[in-house]
Amino acid sequence: MSNTEQTLSIIKPDAVERNLENEIKEMFKNKGFSIVKDKKIQIEKSEAEKFYKVHETKPFYNDLCAYLSSGPIVVMILEKENAVIANRELMGATNPKDAQEGTIRKKYGISIDKNSVHGSDSSENAKIEIDFFFKD
Ligand code: UDP
Ligand code: MG
Repeated sequence: MSNTEQTLSIIKPDAVERNLENEIKEMFKNKGFSIVKDKKIQIEKSEAEKFYKVHETKPFYNDLCAYLSSGPIVVMILEKENAVIANRELMGATNPKDAQEGTIRKKYGISIDKNSVHGSDSSENAKIEIDFFFKD
């Protein structure tokens, strides 16, 4: 059974700062994703805190939210068959040191905090995250 779905992707500040937007978008397109919508924005720390609320008890929460709001990001709705898992596979492991060859984080990630991309981790969260950035 086919399962075309959408997921939210973010090109994080470390990658936008290094002008990697187009290279990363090419990696998505080469894997068969359509970029349904995209926009370059900068968010307030308070918005990052809302977006990453699931991590609020983690020791890295404050730095993570400061970081995501520290510079421009590119938010995208990606569409493909099983897009959520396909995007997680293309992103690679959270820590670029553990990421497989051919993944975005292996190629571009600098460290566990500056790991270049975000991707929704479930279909349910994808809907919530897409609404967070594109509800208007
Ligand atoms: N993060 C961090 N330190 C950690 C774990 C995570 O700075 O020890 C950051 C990292 O940027 C990661 C984000 O917090 O992408 C969200 O963590 P999650 O476990 O959800 O990883 P992801 O889903 O992004 O792979
Ligand atoms: Mg996550």
